[in-house]
Amino acid sequence: GFKCGIVGLPNVGKSTIFNAITSAGAESANYPFCTIEPNVGIVAVPDPRLDALAAIVKPRQVLPTTMEFVDIAGLVKGASRGEGLGNQFLGHIRQVDAIANIVRCFEDDNVVHVDGSVDPLRDIDVIQTELNLADLESLERRKTRIQKQAKSGDKASQAELEVIETIERCLNEGLPARRAALAPEQQRLARDFHLITLKPVLYVANVAEDDLEGQHPHVAAVRDYACRQGAELVLICGKIEAEIAELSAEEKSEFLAAMGLQESGLAQMIRAGYQLLGLQTYFTAGVKEVRAWTVPVGATAPQAAGVIHSDFERGFIRAEVIAYADFISCGGEAGAREKGLLRVEGKDYRVQDGDVMHFRFNV
Ligand code: GDP
Repeated sequence: GFKCGIVGLPNVGKSTIFNAITSAGAESANYPFCTIEPNVGIVAVPDPRLDALAAIVKPRQVLPTTMEFVDIAGLVKGASRGEGLGNQFLGHIRQVDAIANIVRCFEDDNVVHVDGSVDPLRDIDVIQTELNLADLESLERRKTRIQKQAKSGDKASQAELEVIETIERCLNEGLPARRAALAPEQQRLARDFHLITLKPVLYVANVAEDDLEGQHPHVAAVRDYACRQGAELVLICGKIEAEIAELSAEEKSEFLAAMGLQESGLAQMIRAGYQLLGLQTYFTAGVKEVRAWTVPVGATAPQAAGVIHSDFERGFIRAEVIAYADFISCGGEAGAREKGLLRVEGKDYRVQDGDVMHFRFNV
């Protein structure tokens, strides 16, 4: 599965947010949402389109799609040198596909900050430095391994060495590897290095209970930073999310409405994480079930079919596709078919987010 790791310094609210995510998931009916390991949770990806489809199709069940979050503790100053839970931390973070960086923006004298005061930009810098150092070290090891071959004229090693050195310069300037200027084929090479700072990042500001709109200068500073990095920022209040997670679905929507919110910060964070992973959703809509499925952006119709069952991919003949907006505006499949909005697509079709699909295949 695709995993989004939750990282941040100690006491910023990682576990609080992780627990809220997993208990929100656990409460949804019909799906084995669970905490698969103490720090890994499968969560439903909130998607209002599912409800709109279900209102038309009236299926027996509705199944959201899911993604995984991993609570990765142990990031402290010195983690890259193995301090604290450093080595364990690095092992875990190398295994995720994207990173949600939780930054503390709430003041609370009862919650100690490891550096004595709340300063989100300093925290981001500590984290960035540790991750850069860890990447520099793994690049150094790689370099040592291939230097000899590169010197003796091996073209592949020379190409790799060039990529390594480009990334090293970037890291030494304090920038993450994803900011290195690499040609597409160099990026492909770099992907094999399993660098941490090559992974896409989302910033999550854990804001105070009375600052859900993020007016505090702490939040403004993070917003500005994320913007300059071209990264997404989500605001969330861990304390409130922990309270919301205890509520029933009905109480939850009342609570959110009373706060003037469309959806919880958690829902926004899950969706942002999903997008960060480069994922998109297509739907199947039958009377038995309306269901959301996940494919990477750019997936072809047979690959999408393969997510349901490998036989569907192997025996793929064609897909009948209705764009989500057409499905809704035509009141369902029959209406879309009448208006000529049901398309028949072949094996080269690239799935679009929101496509309502029906696969034809040979068994
Ligand atoms: P972690 O070390 O990053 O996993 O942090 P925790 O989730 O364990 O939180 C550390 C402490 O901060 C706990 O006492 C939480 O109750 C508290 N905390 C977490 N989020 C918030 C928040 O949004 N506001 C306030 N006031 N306290 C919070």
